[in-house]
Amino acid sequence: MIIDLLTDSGTGAMSRDQWAGIQRGDESYAGSPSWFRFRDAVQKLFPFRHVIPTHQGRAAEKILFSVIAGPGKVVPNNSHFDTTRANVEVTGAEAIDLTPPRKPGELLPFKGDLDVDALERVISERGAESIPVVFMTITNNSNGGQPVSLANLRAVREICDRHGLPLFLDACRFAENAWFIRTREPGYESTPIPDIVREMAALADGMTMSAKKDGLANIGGWLALNDDGLAERCREVLILTEGFPTYGGLAGRDLEAIAQGLEEVVDEDYLRYRIRSTAYLGEALVASGVPVLQPIGGHAVYLDARALLPHIPPLEYPGQSLACALYVEGGIRGCEIGTVMFGQRPDGTEAPGPMDLVRLAIPRRTYTQSHIDYVIEVVRSVAERAADLRGLRIVDAPRSLRHFTARFAPLSS
Ligand SMILES: *Cc1c(COP(=O)(O)O)cnc(C)c1O
Repeated sequence: MIIDLLTDSGTGAMSRDQWAGIQRGDESYAGSPSWFRFRDAVQKLFPFRHVIPTHQGRAAEKILFSVIAGPGKVVPNNSHFDTTRANVEVTGAEAIDLTPPRKPGELLPFKGDLDVDALERVISERGAESIPVVFMTITNNSNGGQPVSLANLRAVREICDRHGLPLFLDACRFAENAWFIRTREPGYESTPIPDIVREMAALADGMTMSAKKDGLANIGGWLALNDDGLAERCREVLILTEGFPTYGGLAGRDLEAIAQGLEEVVDEDYLRYRIRSTAYLGEALVASGVPVLQPIGGHAVYLDARALLPHIPPLEYPGQSLACALYVEGGIRGCEIGTVMFGQRPDGTEAPGPMDLVRLAIPRRTYTQSHIDYVIEVVRSVAERAADLRGLRIVDAPRSLRHFTARFAPLSS
């Protein structure tokens, strides 16, 4: 492999100061100075009363939903990330996505926004008492890394207030989201990024976070919230599954790396570079006529394999076929987000996913412009011979979450 665009999760390069933090890490079991540095860095941006460290975002999800969700409960979200959905569903609760359906090329500034009318409908149909929490994922990862506006967050907050519902953020890419607010939402052109982050936080009652994204770290996460009683119950599960409340599933050195990462991720120069370099790849592909999801999101470019390979039906996995071709042609690893990922029904049957995409996720501070120029060349050259690409069949797949481990073979005709 030459360029790895499988995910932006924990794959970034840490800075000099983060590595210095790693050396400084204090490994005391309880009350380590590294814990206090971590907690203060989180609360500086997200002033929630309780901060509960975990080894990853999904551990924060697991703890929260095991306490508040269960059979008969419903969790609305703009779009659940796959681990978030799985952690809701494993409790017996239902996960509902409320991002309105959009065309891949539809140019909207905040394509990650939640449909507030649909949220009102879910609340009136299912009853507020069946909804333990409303979630907002910023940026909207499952929907193209698209941002959510403060106006939309405020509208969701207003609905939650009217029905007495708590609002939580799945804040994995909060800094990228804040940058989009600053550059696209009227009135925020000159607001400092940390102030925009605090404004998002002030609209919520809590959050889950993967520090492998906008924590700029290789591992880590947290759950933060205001409710004292709920925090107490979550800490009990934390001790059972992750560790003592001042380290969660992390080493002291990890807490240091995250604390430093949170200082760096809200730096305007970093964010300008980050969002520009993703857009650079996307815009070059658009200019070459390669169909991609637009506008370009924060952390990834999504190739529209269904549009590029109309001769491959969804059940022959055009996204997987394109991902394989990029790897064979140029050693570039991407990730199918389409019928392989979403086409499997609980009863064992198959149906096309909503789209067939290949996500090229950009690790943070890792690749240079010439690496990306190489990616552009390879995608262009695969696109030129798109008609020669063939579909695939699955030769071996597990019963659930098949996209992680399924094996494929090419179809001959
Ligand atoms: C990555 C991610 C998670 C899960 O975090 P992990 O650290 O991978 O467990 C949850 N939500 C979103 C939006 C994510 O991108």
